[in-house]
Amino acid sequence: MSLFFIQKFEIMKKIILISTLTLSSLMSCQSQSAQSKNTNTVPTDKSITPGTSHSKNPYYSRKDTTPLQIEDAEWEKILPSEVFEVARQKATERPFTGKYWNYKGKGIYYCAACGNALFKSDAKFASSCGWPSFFQTIRSNSVAYQTDNALGMERTEVLCGRCGGHLGHIFNDGPAPTGMRYCMNSIVLEFEPETKKK
Ligand code: FE
Repeated sequence: MSLFFIQKFEIMKKIILISTLTLSSLMSCQSQSAQSKNTNTVPTDKSITPGTSHSKNPYYSRKDTTPLQIEDAEWEKILPSEVFEVARQKATERPFTGKYWNYKGKGIYYCAACGNALFKSDAKFASSCGWPSFFQTIRSNSVAYQTDNALGMERTEVLCGRCGGHLGHIFNDGPAPTGMRYCMNSIVLEFEPETKKK
């Protein structure tokens, strides 16, 4: 009988230890850098190749900056599910899992939902938070902002300026010259390498 309880106790200890480690890894970024978190996390699909998955999306354009008013039900039909969950349902991908959090390529980041140009790689900086971080947008109206009081915190949500899709949050602990940190989800970004001019 005592052996049974010892085994049960050991199992409970392991469960508590794993839970504690998981929770602390999630909280560490938040406490160090006021990082955004959302309990509705999604895995990042690294198989989506930028620029190749918009055949079902008639609203996608890298030139048209006219704001879009599209219902979520329509987005759900045309976006990859992982993109929809972040862009339209405000999920957050797990830190250190996205395809761009430590990516250093030179080029432009576009909205994966609508093609709107968002950031230049020149404005990307190495942040330890686990999500791609930028200190400024490519145009002032590339993104829009709104207050987010979810999870008992007051944060500023960053939305795509064209489609209104959720991109991430902005914090005031970024580097010079702006001091801002646009903390983005990789899955809603699409990187296009710069072309060499001759
Ligand atoms: Fe967009």
